[in-house]
Amino acid sequence: MSIDTLRLTAEEAMGLLERKEVSGRELHDAYRAAIDARDGELHAFLWVQDEPDRGGVPIAIKDVISTKGVPTTAGSKILEGYVPVFDATVTARCKAAGLSLLGKTNTDEFAMGSSTENSAYGPTHNPWDPTRVPGGSGGGSAAAVSAGLAPWALGSDTGGSIKQPAALCGIVGLRPTYGTVSRYGVVAFASSLDQVGPTTKTVRDCALLYGIISGRDENDSTTVDVPKVDLPTAEDLKGVRIGVPRELNEAEGIEPGVRNAVRAAIDRAAALGAEIGECSLPRSVDYGLACYYLIAPAEASSNLARYDGVRYGLRAEGADFREMVMNTRRAGFGDEPKRRIMLGTYALSSGYYDAYYAKAQKVRTVIKREHDAVFENFDLIVSPTSPTVAFELGAKTADPLAMYLNDLLTIPSCMAGLPGLSIPCGLSAGLPVGLQLVGPQFGENTLFKVGHALERALEFDFVPERLR
Ligand code: GLN
Repeated sequence: MSIDTLRLTAEEAMGLLERKEVSGRELHDAYRAAIDARDGELHAFLWVQDEPDRGGVPIAIKDVISTKGVPTTAGSKILEGYVPVFDATVTARCKAAGLSLLGKTNTDEFAMGSSTENSAYGPTHNPWDPTRVPGGSGGGSAAAVSAGLAPWALGSDTGGSIKQPAALCGIVGLRPTYGTVSRYGVVAFASSLDQVGPTTKTVRDCALLYGIISGRDENDSTTVDVPKVDLPTAEDLKGVRIGVPRELNEAEGIEPGVRNAVRAAIDRAAALGAEIGECSLPRSVDYGLACYYLIAPAEASSNLARYDGVRYGLRAEGADFREMVMNTRRAGFGDEPKRRIMLGTYALSSGYYDAYYAKAQKVRTVIKREHDAVFENFDLIVSPTSPTVAFELGAKTADPLAMYLNDLLTIPSCMAGLPGLSIPCGLSAGLPVGLQLVGPQFGENTLFKVGHALERALEFDFVPERLR
């Protein structure tokens, strides 16, 4: 039977396997053929598996996630040639569920970026328009799913790296509640923020994959047991209270086409029976980004100290130990990790610690409380995921601050540890617009329910127009 990898959802692929209408081998080969046909142009993958290692639905995994016996570079030269001797817990859980590893996807170096242009192995291109970025840092996973090169994929999200690329590629992405998915074996960026989550074509696929990877792991002490995942079926939104935070929907820099598509989706939610109300998150939007760009680099500067030429990957020459370490880090890290290490080391240095890092932590508490207050009156809140649609490659690479602004709308809920789902809600100038749904802690089932009902009503076609 011929397999249309552009349209097939993971759930449908499971059905085909269960009914023995296809074999795991045929599925794997179909995705391999799609990769051979289209990944030369897109560069979503850094490594591809020749033979399926299991009989189930294939999955692509972001290259910051450890895969036993398979290179894991985090998009960095400093980890070139590094082959983990163990699986991350999320990888092990996918394997235990029968999923077969299809390949490792491109990422900004150490997941630092919003366009995948910071990958040391070259950028990924957006399947809707290859002159544009797929978003980042999980642009490889998002482009792979969008272009039918993988039925679904795992990403990681520190300040928006699952949600924002999903938005820019017209697919679904979930950043789960902090603590619901293990980070054991995931290359650490900013440990108080990092979360692993699904990148999929549909909300139901997203719920299925979240069900596979989530839950307590004794190797990650920040994890907890999670409520049972409900596969969403409801098509109406009766009784659901949706808050529209003014500042997240009217922030400077939101493109008119993005605003219009999001407004139309909110109207659609109202037509499905949801109660819509305005709310406010003033400090979260004013200070979220600044606060994130202190805390994330501070933690990164500490996490990246382990790349010393001794323990992993690259080792440069040097007359003595100190010189070897310096040369290794100079040669192995790209500009963005170096920038963050410098920013973070500065923010943590004595004399500046209280003024920057400690202050940012206090602001973070304010952001958390502001969100808690909103969730007393609403089941979830909505906004655009990204202020803009996919931009041209190179448009923001010379201006780190412009690049950081991409995450203006995704960062506040990440700082608060809350789950966020991005679903496509329409097009602006032919490019996908993402709708961000944010819930209270452990509110994933509500996000799936509302996301699914809206997905049905909006009937967005996730196959990029130029590939139909
Ligand atoms: N773009 C943000 C950053 O550069 C978020 C990245 C992420 O979520 N990993 O830090």
